[in-house]
Amino acid sequence: MKPEMKLIFEKSREGRTGYQVPDTGVESVDPRAHLGRWFREDIAGFPELSEPEVVRHFVNLSKLNYSIDEGMYPLGSCTMKYNPKINETTAAMDGFAGVHPYWPERQIQGALRLMRDLEHLLCEITGLAAFSLQPAAGAHGELTGMLMVTAHNKSRGEKRDVVLIPDSAHGTNPSSAHICGLKVQQIASNTRGRLDLESLRAHISPSVAALMITNPNTLGLFEDEIAKIAGMLHEAGAQLYMDGANMNALLGKVRPGDLGVDVLHLNLHKTFSTPHGGGGPGAGPVGAAKHLERFRPVPVIEEHDGQLRFASNRPDSVGKVKGFYGNFGMLVRAYTYILSLGASGLREIAEAAVLNANYVRAKLSDRYHLPYSCLNMHEVILSDKKQMVHGVTTLNIAKRLMDYGFHPPTIYFPLIVSGAMMIEPTESEPLDEIDRFIAAMRAIADEAETNPDIVKNAPHSTTVQKLDEARAARTPILRWKP
Ligand SMILES: *Cc1c(COP(=O)(O)O)cnc(C)c1O
Repeated sequence: MKPEMKLIFEKSREGRTGYQVPDTGVESVDPRAHLGRWFREDIAGFPELSEPEVVRHFVNLSKLNYSIDEGMYPLGSCTMKYNPKINETTAAMDGFAGVHPYWPERQIQGALRLMRDLEHLLCEITGLAAFSLQPAAGAHGELTGMLMVTAHNKSRGEKRDVVLIPDSAHGTNPSSAHICGLKVQQIASNTRGRLDLESLRAHISPSVAALMITNPNTLGLFEDEIAKIAGMLHEAGAQLYMDGANMNALLGKVRPGDLGVDVLHLNLHKTFSTPHGGGGPGAGPVGAAKHLERFRPVPVIEEHDGQLRFASNRPDSVGKVKGFYGNFGMLVRAYTYILSLGASGLREIAEAAVLNANYVRAKLSDRYHLPYSCLNMHEVILSDKKQMVHGVTTLNIAKRLMDYGFHPPTIYFPLIVSGAMMIEPTESEPLDEIDRFIAAMRAIADEAETNPDIVKNAPHSTTVQKLDEARAARTPILRWKP
């Protein structure tokens, strides 16, 4: 049964309350006498309901959501994997949750040590020399990294204002470079879905500051010529930036630093299982090779006589990028995740992420068009080419998946694939759940042939059906007014 879709204001009944205060015999006072002109006679339209009505209202609202705790969430590139509950337990410990950033450093040595140790773990995982935990998200990490590259070039007296970005990069890459004041030039992919080295060669010049490469790229493919690419850039005095948001495909297998990457960001809220997707805090730490280390944002954690402290007197630093020291709660969760898995566990993440995505590809390749039919990494790209014959599009398929109880995949991205469906099962899905997803995708492919209207008019089972997606994004009504 679908829950009643009334606003709490519409359910209100005048005079109804959720509490009763027993008569205590204490003399009452008139708040007006104390509050004067600040006293509010009335809050217009304030809902009046009993306690069970309030509880039921919000519990029923919560049931309209879909979450990773309910089922598979194959949203490509976003790595919506399960977040182990032990991460929440440690993040909620008094010593972490109750710490205040204004406390004296000598009283928060444990929190500082956690941050310092996490930096070291990330260095070991990526093969880079130093990390900053401050950026609040992936795109913020990209901006920080490009500011560091710019500071490095300035320190050498070089004016380099061009950033090369492959057409298979994540969309935030060109935006971050642009916000950093750099000019973006796009590099084409080759027929293998990898960066085209000839195109790169043609674009390299003394004004190139860096190449920003997403690896694995948004086609879900490993840039297998990355070491050669690094060599070409370094020869020309340029840096290699790697977007490492999707490191779950590489953990324990490949270290970007060993491939010649100079600077990169990680998404703790993807690879290292801190919850995301609800607009809450994230963390996009930036790692740098030795020659870029001194440009990290302030403050950095330093150790003197066994005491850890924040150091801000760093003349080469790009400055502050975030209030205080980053989103500390996310750092506790990621640290817990890394320690609870250990080195072998991290390696298994990469193995399972890649195996699961290739399993999905192999099991769907006879029913859906594969623009790149080679082995993939943590995600696989399908297209609607075969279903278009029946007038069924990627959008229809995504909506129909909701009827089968799944969150839709990322759609129409990457832009270089027409009608793309970007599917990332992630490493945390059990085989049964992936099989259930595959069965749903195959059933939809059948429906597209035999009963296309049922797919075109989907979803049928959700509380609301066809939404005006443009208006929902551009003119959302977020506030009720009496
Ligand atoms: C998610 C993602 C980003 C952006 O990260 P945010 O935390 O959303 O800013 C950048 N690059 C890639 C490859 C991503 O998957």
